[in-house]
Amino acid sequence: MKLESFWQATAPVFSGAAASELPAKADVVVVGGGFTGLSAAYNLAKAGVNVVVLEAGEVLSQASGRNGGHCNTGVAQNFASLVESVGLEQASIYYHAYADAVEYVHSVVKEETIDCDLIRTGKLKLASKAKHFPSLVKTYELLKRTVDSNVELIDASHIRDEIGSDAFHGGLLQKGGGQMHMGKFGVGLAQAAVAKGAVIHAHTPVTGLQQIDGHRYRVSTARGDIEAGRVLLATGTSDKGPFSWFQRRIVPVGSFIIATAPLTPGQLQESFKNNRTYVTSLNIGNYFRTTADNRLIFGGRARFAISNPTSDARSGAVLRQGLSELFPQLADVRIDYCWGGLVDMTADRLPRAGEHEGLFYSMGYSGHGTQMSVYMGKVMAALITGQPVSNPWQRSNWAAMPGYFGKPWFLPMAGLYYKAKDKVS
Ligand SMILES: Cc1cc2nc3c(=O)[nH]c(=O)nc-3n(C[C@H](O)[C@H](O)[C@H](O)COP(=O)(O)OP(=O)(O)OC[C@H]3O[C@@H](n4cnc5c(N)ncnc54)[C@H](O)[C@@H]3O)c2cc1C
Repeated sequence: MKLESFWQATAPVFSGAAASELPAKADVVVVGGGFTGLSAAYNLAKAGVNVVVLEAGEVLSQASGRNGGHCNTGVAQNFASLVESVGLEQASIYYHAYADAVEYVHSVVKEETIDCDLIRTGKLKLASKAKHFPSLVKTYELLKRTVDSNVELIDASHIRDEIGSDAFHGGLLQKGGGQMHMGKFGVGLAQAAVAKGAVIHAHTPVTGLQQIDGHRYRVSTARGDIEAGRVLLATGTSDKGPFSWFQRRIVPVGSFIIATAPLTPGQLQESFKNNRTYVTSLNIGNYFRTTADNRLIFGGRARFAISNPTSDARSGAVLRQGLSELFPQLADVRIDYCWGGLVDMTADRLPRAGEHEGLFYSMGYSGHGTQMSVYMGKVMAALITGQPVSNPWQRSNWAAMPGYFGKPWFLPMAGLYYKAKDKVS
C-alpha cells in the first residue's frame, strides 16, 4: 500500500512551475497553489493581470490534491438545518452558489479541454439508520419545494437498486453533482493558468506580510520579497506563515481516504452500479465513489487526528474495517493507496471570503470545496480587479473561536461527542 494520494500519484506532472528568480513587483500575489489560488491566477491572467502564485510546496500538495474526489451541488450541511439557522432566502443563495460552482468547474474543463474523467451522476446521501430517513424526507421535500427540483427520494425498499449493501435504509439523490480526477483537473488548471501568463513558484512559502498602504503589501519569502499591488490568501488550513488572524477562525480537521485495487466489472455492478458519489448520514460517516479505472475511493473522519504517514496508515486500517462492514463482499479487496488531509473547517461550515486589512482571502470550505474553491477563484479575481461580482461568502463579521489560537486541542473531545451522538441518533 502506498501512503500517498491516488490523485497526486496518477496525475500528469505539472511542468509549468517557474524556474526564474522572484520578481521585485507584481500586480497580484496569490498565496497558495490549490484550486482557489490556481483558479484565481487563471482568471487574473486571462484578464491580462500580472499575477504571481507563491506555493509553499508543490501545487495541489494539500486539500486540492488529497480530497475525496466529489464535486457536488448542495451545501455542506443539511439544507433544512441551514434554513433554520440563516433563513430560507440566505440558505437559497448559498445553495445556488454551489450549483453555479459545479457549472463553473464544468465550463473550465470544457473551455480548457482538461481530460479529468469528469462525470455527472449525482450524489446519493445514504441513511445509515432507519431513524435517519425521515430527516432525508424532510430535506427532500424542502429542496424540491424551494431550490432544487433535480432531486429524488429512494426509500428502503428500493435502496438495494442503488447500492450493494444491507447497511442503508433509504437515500436522497441530488442529481446535479459530479466527480472527477482531482489531480488531472488541478494540473490542467495550473497549466491553463501558466498558458494565460500566470507565474507559479513552487517551494516558496510566504513568511511575512507587511502592509505598505491600502491593498499594497510587501510579501516576504526566503527567496526574496515581492511588492504586490494586491494579495490573495488562498492558503486553506495553513499552519505556516503570518496568518494568525485566519488561524483563529479556521480549524484543521483530519480526514482520511483509502483507494482499493481496481474492482472487477462484476463487483462494480453489484455494489455501485449507478456510479454516484455517496455519503452516509452519520456525523462520523463515510464518503466514497469509484474511479475511471474502477477503484473504490473510500474516505471518512476515521480518527480525530492530524494527517501524516503514520497517522494516515492507522486511519487507513479503521477505514478498511468500515469498508468491510458496509460491503462484506469487498472485505478481501487489496488497498493500494492510503492518505489523509486537513479540512479547513469554520464554526458554521460556511466558507468565508472578502478582505481583511487590505488582504483578499477565500477559505473555510469545510470539506465541501472542490467546486467552491474553483468558483471563488473566479469571484476573487473579479473582486481584485474591481469588476462587479456577487460574493456569496462576504460577511460583515467573522468572529474568532473563543479559546482557540490555531491548535485544535478540543478535537478529541469533539470526536467523542459526535461518536456518542451517532450512537443515540
Ligand atoms: C481529505 C479531504 C477530503 C475532501 N473531500 C472533498 C470532496 O470529496 N469534495 C469536496 O467538495 N471537497 C472535499 N474536500 C475539500 C476540498 O478539497 C477543499 O475545500 C479545496 O481543495 C480547497 O482548496 P484551496 O485551494 O482553498 O486549499 P488547498 O488545496 O489546501 O491549497 C492551499 C495551498 O496553500 C499553500 N500554503 C499554505 N500556507 C502557505 C504559505 N505560507 N505560503 C505559500 N503557500 C502556502 C498550501 O501548501 C496549499 O497548497 C476534502 C478535503 C480533504 C482534506
